[in-house]
Amino acid sequence: MQTPKSRHLTWQPGHVTRAERARTLGQRGVTVWLTGLSGSGKSTIAIGVEKLLVESGHTAYVLDGDNVRHGLNKNLGFSPADRTENIRRVGEVAKLFTDAGVIVLTSFISPYRTDRDAVRALLGPGDFIEVYVSASLETCESRDVKGLYQKARAGQIPEFTGISAPYEAPEQPELVLDTGRQTVEESVGEVLRYLEEKGYLTSPA
Ligand code: ADP
Repeated sequence: MQTPKSRHLTWQPGHVTRAERARTLGQRGVTVWLTGLSGSGKSTIAIGVEKLLVESGHTAYVLDGDNVRHGLNKNLGFSPADRTENIRRVGEVAKLFTDAGVIVLTSFISPYRTDRDAVRALLGPGDFIEVYVSASLETCESRDVKGLYQKARAGQIPEFTGISAPYEAPEQPELVLDTGRQTVEESVGEVLRYLEEKGYLTSPA
């Protein structure tokens, strides 16, 4: 954990509690952290869950890997240090959204276990749901949604996860989605069912 550069900082608390936000919004804020290889289905599942939640009156928001690299993290590449900083910043943003009562769906390869565990620790128990979006490298490569595997195999993309950079699968994720076997609807449905069963979704005050 990095310490702030300035020592002259005080935490300014607000008047609104998490419980009050939850009552108003009809949901408890949480971060659903999707991790998996490129092409495993993270973005598809994240935007699918977001759509169904919003349609049913909930407040949900997707933080997507490529999107965040257009702005907040545009100065970061794919070296191990930059990947770690990418996930650290996203974790901090997810924490703010979660505190605001939003159901956050993050779609990042996030290949390093220690980086994901750091976000888990940052958010705390009940605020972080790790979802392993599981599909074999062969499946992801045959989908090749963005044509990246072909480029990586041709040596045009260095440090590509699964080909020339590691992916460390979660050891104890809250949920595993086998997208090699499931339909998109089934995977999306599993996430929604989890949120319902664990009591994250109530109805607005
Ligand atoms: P990622 O965000 O992990 O890089 P994408 O969501 O962009 O992956 O692409 C996943 C591809 O796999 C999409 O073309 C999607 O339609 C397909 N797919 C097949 N089955 C599933 C499933 N169960 N869940 C998610 N995506 C699936």
